[in-house]
Amino acid sequence: KIPRGGVSSVSAASGARRLPVGVRKPSLRVVVTGGAGFVGSHLVDKLLARGDSVIVVDNFFTGRKDNVAHHLSNPRFELIRHDVVEPILLEIDQIYHLACPASPVHYKFNPIKTIKTNVMGTLNMLGLAKRVGARFLLTSTSEVYGDPLEHPQKESYWGHVNPIGVRSCYDEGKRTAETLTMDYHRGAGVEVRIARIFNTYGPRMCLDDGRVVSNFVAQALRKQPMTVYGDGKQTRSFQYVSDLVDGLVILMESNHIGPFNLGNPGEFTMLELAQVVKETIDPGASVEFKPNTADDPHMRKPDISKAKSLLNWEPKISLKHGLPRMVSDFQKRIMEEK
Ligand code: NAD
Ligand code: UDP
Ligand code: UDP
Repeated sequence: KIPRGGVSSVSAASGARRLPVGVRKPSLRVVVTGGAGFVGSHLVDKLLARGDSVIVVDNFFTGRKDNVAHHLSNPRFELIRHDVVEPILLEIDQIYHLACPASPVHYKFNPIKTIKTNVMGTLNMLGLAKRVGARFLLTSTSEVYGDPLEHPQKESYWGHVNPIGVRSCYDEGKRTAETLTMDYHRGAGVEVRIARIFNTYGPRMCLDDGRVVSNFVAQALRKQPMTVYGDGKQTRSFQYVSDLVDGLVILMESNHIGPFNLGNPGEFTMLELAQVVKETIDPGASVEFKPNTADDPHMRKPDISKAKSLLNWEPKISLKHGLPRMVSDFQKRIMEEK
């Protein structure tokens, strides 16, 4: 195992400024781009709790200061309003690169900005990693598999993606981000990690971000019908956010590059999801069918055997156990709206 903040043969070859082998830094300086967002803010909680110094870089497009407000008085925490499309100079040991809108509604809102974020933003963070010898982790996505022809999806599957469709700013953007990550590794000796994240839910998701779990939960709590797109038979696999954050940290600290699928293999149709939300929140909740969006993947389920065997990671929290934790957070925020 490469010691935290230690050295690998690759970064030594690139001349990066690192401590000698075996020397551990007491505390790491970690950047989390997109750290004011849903996943990022939970990651920040975990990193600060274990004693790291954390810099959040976020432009607040979909993130909220509220998500990290509880850390503002912590001297080990810093919040920078910055758009990753622009270069930035920082002195750090690790970069968790999450900055990018994740909900289809958000990433389609300004597709040019989304692809710039994925390409130029990732390039800048890799340039930063190269300059300071930091380890870089990319949060890629199951969307790199597109509308998959292989089920469940293994990391070896190259995907089935429409390069000119309305989702391509995101899925092709993330594919390019993966390419850049591997090229900086092979060409510039940057230590990299790639996580392919499957649908994740939990507290702090935007109430109206358009993703299915947040939509159904907010709708059921507001006594509105749950909007099922298409026939509701398409499938997704839903992962609770703490399982994902554990996986991201384990991956960063491992000596494996990836890519690794990080997701919960429990697969549900949207109608089955609506049923679970109904049982959790309101037995009287109803469903309303709406037309589906273009290029919507028909099914999605991770094969996580690679992460299980190499990282010793697997999700612990089922949908039935995770959903109530999200519901109490949503309930509180919906009450505050009134
Ligand atoms: P989110 O929208 O809650 O968080 C994204 C964060 O990035 C926000 O705080 C936003 O303000 C920030 N951001 C966006 N563009 C930026 C820019 N140009 N410069 C600086 N900051 C910027 O989404 P999330 O669910 O927390 O997703 C985090 C990461 O995980 C994303 O990269 C996403 O692609 C990936 N991911 C998430 C899921 C999921 O189900 N949540 C699934 C697959 C991949
Ligand atoms: N970059 C950055 N911070 C740094 C180092 C680089 O934002 O500390 C940006 C830099 O502005 C460039 C990108 O990262 O746009 C890629 O940097 P690299 O050094 O790899 O490429 P070059 O600058 O030689 O094109
Ligand atoms: N969906 C739905 N109702 C909604 C929002 C989404 O039925 O209110 C469906 C959507 O068509 C897709 C699935 O739920 O098939 C997951 O959508 P989401 O936007 O959460 O994430 P995706 O996996 O598509 O990125």
